[in-house]
Amino acid sequence: MDLNQLYTELILEHSQNSENKGHLDHANCTERGRNPSCGDDITLELVCRGDIIEDASFTGSGCAISQASTSIMIDLIKGKSKEEAGELVNTFLSMIKKELNDYDKLEMLEDAVAFQNIGNMPARVKCATLAWHTLREAITKNQ
Ligand code: ZN
Repeated sequence: MDLNQLYTELILEHSQNSENKGHLDHANCTERGRNPSCGDDITLELVCRGDIIEDASFTGSGCAISQASTSIMIDLIKGKSKEEAGELVNTFLSMIKKELNDYDKLEMLEDAVAFQNIGNMPARVKCATLAWHTLREAITKNQ
């Protein structure tokens, strides 16, 4: 199995069967994000205690790429501080724009590197980045 195939499987797995999808009982920060060009419509739910994102989930619908990207992002940010989550967002967006030259930083994205070649498909970039922009919005509003 080559790397692209592995990434495709990872994206399919997260989009079809995400443990991160559903409502949280004690969410204290929610943010909706929409990508009209594809029809993706997600809502992030976060449980923040002080500066730490203790738990996170999402609801909504959209294409496999938007759903998988949201689920993978949630795996990454759980337990992180808002500042760390913000840095992950910046790193992910730089990777998509192919502006990331520091491979150590790429490593901190873990499974989200599955989207590193999405920049070659401009129509899908908004699908892959929707959750990350939405998270940035949520964090900025709840400083
Ligand atoms: Zn989409």
